[in-house]
Amino acid sequence: MSAINTHNLHIEKASTSKIKDVDFKNLTFGNTFTDHMFLCDFVDGEWQQPKIVPYQAMQMEPSARVFHYGQAVFEGMKAYKDENGDVFLFRPDQNFERINKSCARLAMPEFPREYFFEGLTTLLNLDKDWIQTGVGNSLYVRPFAIATEPVISAAPSRTYRFMIICSPVSPYYKGKVRVLIAEHFSRSADGGVGYAKAAGNYAAQFYPTNLAQQKGFQQVIWTDSNTHTLLEEAGTMNVFFRIKDTLITAPTSDRILDGVTRKSVIQIAKDNGIAVDVRPIKVSEIVEASENGTLKEIFGAGTAAVISEISAFEYRDKVHELEDLGSQSYAAQLKQKMLHIQHNLAEDKHGWRYQVL
Ligand SMILES: *Cc1c(COP(=O)(O)O)cnc(C)c1O
Repeated sequence: MSAINTHNLHIEKASTSKIKDVDFKNLTFGNTFTDHMFLCDFVDGEWQQPKIVPYQAMQMEPSARVFHYGQAVFEGMKAYKDENGDVFLFRPDQNFERINKSCARLAMPEFPREYFFEGLTTLLNLDKDWIQTGVGNSLYVRPFAIATEPVISAAPSRTYRFMIICSPVSPYYKGKVRVLIAEHFSRSADGGVGYAKAAGNYAAQFYPTNLAQQKGFQQVIWTDSNTHTLLEEAGTMNVFFRIKDTLITAPTSDRILDGVTRKSVIQIAKDNGIAVDVRPIKVSEIVEASENGTLKEIFGAGTAAVISEISAFEYRDKVHELEDLGSQSYAAQLKQKMLHIQHNLAEDKHGWRYQVL
């Protein structure tokens, strides 16, 4: 192992790479990790020297607060490599700002910008061979922060660990998704943590999603917790509806996460002359549009899948099937445009690409 110290980042390189054991043609999302990881501890009211070390298991006391009270936040972003070997992130400033918003909501200390970007770029440089070229291939980057203080009284931790781990992903088309509209369970509430990428939000979704899966639906479309009459998110993605030729998506709020993919899809749609309406959407309106044939598409938008098309939804025991528009769908067209910008195959007129190396 060799150790390098840049002005504030300590690097300990892995002595051997695991990359030769990886079958990049048969990756399962989130199962394989690169050779290195980034970490930085918060102790005595300060972030300590950040480090990059070989990816490895960690020791933690069973009393660490994260295990008891779920004081944990995360992000998800992707790095892409073009045919020249240049590596890009997509709007990483948005993820940086969002993780600090999430931290603030979970009473966790914000992470410094310089540490985040220096850590991220150095980590991607060290593990650049793990990023495969080709549209759809990428390296999923997972920054997260956890409460580490070994005390089980219910209060915010006084120590934290901020980390970044990376996992190679290949395009994996799961097919279209069938969804159930939530009438009882909720993902988030007014004044709650729905807008934060809090780990516990996901844990709370697993049970209702399992119930939906038992009924033959892959995901739940979440409605507002007060009345269950407004459509908010699809699983862990923002959701878009196309009625006639207009795309509609709900405004972000306490309850709805401000997705980077969502805001990019809105911009790309507008750039391509597609009308976008950002406003609350009633379940009744979508049911009616489905019945009178004006509901053309529903799709989810998020970093992992970019765009995930929905083929049917169930509401009050009635299943509504959507027509398959194939490559003519807004979903397919917007996904293609987004991927081309991310992979440096199309003009980046909004300055979204961030070159890492
Ligand atoms: C992460 C996430 C999204 C998508 O955000 P992106 O920035 O587009 O990846 C949407 N909804 C929820 C609840 C999320 O956690």
